[in-house]
Amino acid sequence: MDTLVLKQQVCEWSVRAWKEGLFEGTCGNLSIYDREQGIVVISPSGLSYSSYRPEDMVVIDLEGKVLEGAHKPSSEWIMHTMVYQHKPGVNSVIHTHSPYASSFAVRNQSIPCILTEMIPALGGDVPLAKFGMPGTAEVGEEACKVLKGRGGCLLARHGVLAVGGSVEKAFVRAGYVENAAKICSIAMSNGSIEPIAGDLFDAVKEHYGVVID
Ligand code: 13P
Ligand code: ZN
Repeated sequence: MDTLVLKQQVCEWSVRAWKEGLFEGTCGNLSIYDREQGIVVISPSGLSYSSYRPEDMVVIDLEGKVLEGAHKPSSEWIMHTMVYQHKPGVNSVIHTHSPYASSFAVRNQSIPCILTEMIPALGGDVPLAKFGMPGTAEVGEEACKVLKGRGGCLLARHGVLAVGGSVEKAFVRAGYVENAAKICSIAMSNGSIEPIAGDLFDAVKEHYGVVID
């Protein structure tokens, strides 16, 4: 795909994530991987979303070499490129700091599978990746370990990672993670919850027939 179109997409979806409360301040980043060209178009580091223009987006290779752009790539570029290398079906990665989901991450808790929709949309629960220092390979390694068969995960004491075959899919999943965390928080505040597990989990999975790679 044309690099300019990819920059426009990364810019537009990042601004949307900020407007919808998935990103906050300058926290949160988004990328698209063009597998044919071997390039990643990623949001810039530390730039206010309100000033984003397509030309501010940064084109890098999988080693983080800047191929186009005047800004530094997101400080989480290693995590993004690591996911692309580990998950062949993933072409877009979003890292958010959305509040309800991040509140599980700061408590070192996964989001249990409490809604039937979580099974086709996310593969089940939203697992917790062990702590990794932001911006290091460690955070990417821990995320890749738990992302098997899942569309998203939590980053301990930090935030959320959502992935998809397209930017639309990754974005929808980031929203589902936040929504599931919100509903789970409300449900837990009213009493104990019972995650969907065992035979019921299998039956719902079979009903939707969806497998997340
Ligand atoms: P960047 O502005 O470098 O993308 O960092 C934001 C962030 O969320 C770090 O984890
Ligand atoms: Zn972050």
